[in-house]
Amino acid sequence: MIVQQGMAVSGERSASESGETSAVRNPASGEVIAEVAAAGIVDVDRAVQGADIAYQQWWRTSPRERRDVLRRIADLIRRDQESLASLESQNAGKPISAARGEIGAVATTFDYYAGAVDKIHGQTIPSHADGTLLTFREPVGVCGLVVPWNFPMLILAWKVAPALAMGNTVVAKPAGVTPLSALALADLALEAGLPAGALNVVPGRGSVAGDALVRHPLVRKVSFTGSTEVGSGVMQAAAAGIKNVSLELGGKSASVVFSDADLDDCVESSVFAVYDNAGQDCCARSRILVERPLFDEFVERFAERAASLLVGDPTDEQTQMGPLITGDHLDTVVGYLDIAHAEGATRVCGGERPGGDLTAGSYLTPAVYVDVRNDMRLMQEEVFGPVVAIMPFAGEDEALQLANDSGYGLSGSVWTRDIGRALRVVRSFDTGMISVNSSSSVHIEAPFGGVKGSGIGREQGMVALEHYSELKSVFIAGS
Ligand code: NAP
Ligand code: MG
Repeated sequence: MIVQQGMAVSGERSASESGETSAVRNPASGEVIAEVAAAGIVDVDRAVQGADIAYQQWWRTSPRERRDVLRRIADLIRRDQESLASLESQNAGKPISAARGEIGAVATTFDYYAGAVDKIHGQTIPSHADGTLLTFREPVGVCGLVVPWNFPMLILAWKVAPALAMGNTVVAKPAGVTPLSALALADLALEAGLPAGALNVVPGRGSVAGDALVRHPLVRKVSFTGSTEVGSGVMQAAAAGIKNVSLELGGKSASVVFSDADLDDCVESSVFAVYDNAGQDCCARSRILVERPLFDEFVERFAERAASLLVGDPTDEQTQMGPLITGDHLDTVVGYLDIAHAEGATRVCGGERPGGDLTAGSYLTPAVYVDVRNDMRLMQEEVFGPVVAIMPFAGEDEALQLANDSGYGLSGSVWTRDIGRALRVVRSFDTGMISVNSSSSVHIEAPFGGVKGSGIGREQGMVALEHYSELKSVFIAGS
């Protein structure tokens, strides 16, 4: 069934001014599941104006009111967890079990920032002048949020929850292919008592709606998650208005596996760190560096486990990997397999289009490559699909040199039982995040973000509140 969906602006669902819509598909079948209003420049302006009006009300609310609204949003997400998971699964091709987990994490994100609302504050500062110095921590104003398609609702929540907690209002531009869960969130926020206009969603093309949002003079903060290339353009566009900018961009993260690693844990965890979300994960450990004595055994066990992953229909509870997001994206990923072959890499397994019932969807089986060099495009560029390259190294220095020889710096892992070595490697790793004997990068309590081409600023944790606020210094003479 094709559902018609309007934009969510100032508490109402509405068509775009031009009447233009965009078809939204299920990547598992290619079928159109919704027709969604496509916002243009005029629509974005209307949404930002509405957010600015709502801001005058929302920033004045007490922390307690904001806490209660955020908590109610979390409760409503949990109430609707099953239908939201199903929506996200249909729109993004996620296995239903994974989608359920993501929606749970969305609720946790709103809970976390509900609790954080009254735990961030200004200071009083000893003054050399005759008087009192203090700081207020204040909201920024209207925030423009631009998000990608790989974790549509979760990444949006990482921005919306801290922004609203600080008293800002927001206009969000979801990815063109995955607008449905963002629109659902706007509806739930209204039901939770968020003032109309405090959370607006303008689906539409990035080059039109996204660009208009980033450039709008009333938008004081831009938070973007997406590719490094588009992120760089967003930063340039925001520069004209001297806007506060946070960028969460691409990655080419490395796992470094030393010979003393617990191989069972490492193989199991590393397989999911590559193929979870069909490899469409900014933190995917798509380069695995293995100490030479362990290399052959690691490759054999990794490939065996990768080949055993259940690729299939996202609605099946057993499915571990669904389709890629679109046929175009599948073509890009398959293009990288051709590049890898041309560069001399050897495919151990996978990289095939499954047939049978899966022919209509953009599926690809988990691919493993060896015989790679770090200067190959397969090792340097973000493929954003179910593809890994495994390469041997000799000693800690070479491991670090290879791991850090990347334009990206988002995440990474080190696998060793030697705590001293683990700490040395962690300290020398050029990334914003790294895990030891684990592949996990996402912890709502901890800062999330990258260095180098992976971006600037941090999401999650208390630090996100700093990115959605400004400090005002106040001097009171004679006091
Ligand atoms: P993308 O192509 O960069 O798009 C991201 C968002 O930006 C989309 O909403 C897109 O709209 C919009 N956009 C495109 N052009 C724009 C412009 N000129 N001005 C403003 N907005 C514009 O990224 P994607 O393909 O959706 O997602 C994959 C990328 O996201 C990967 O590189 C991945 O690593 C990165 N990512 C990073 C993180 C992180 O936290 N570091 C997390 C997840 C994903 P359209 O949909 O209309 O193109
Ligand atoms: Mg894109």
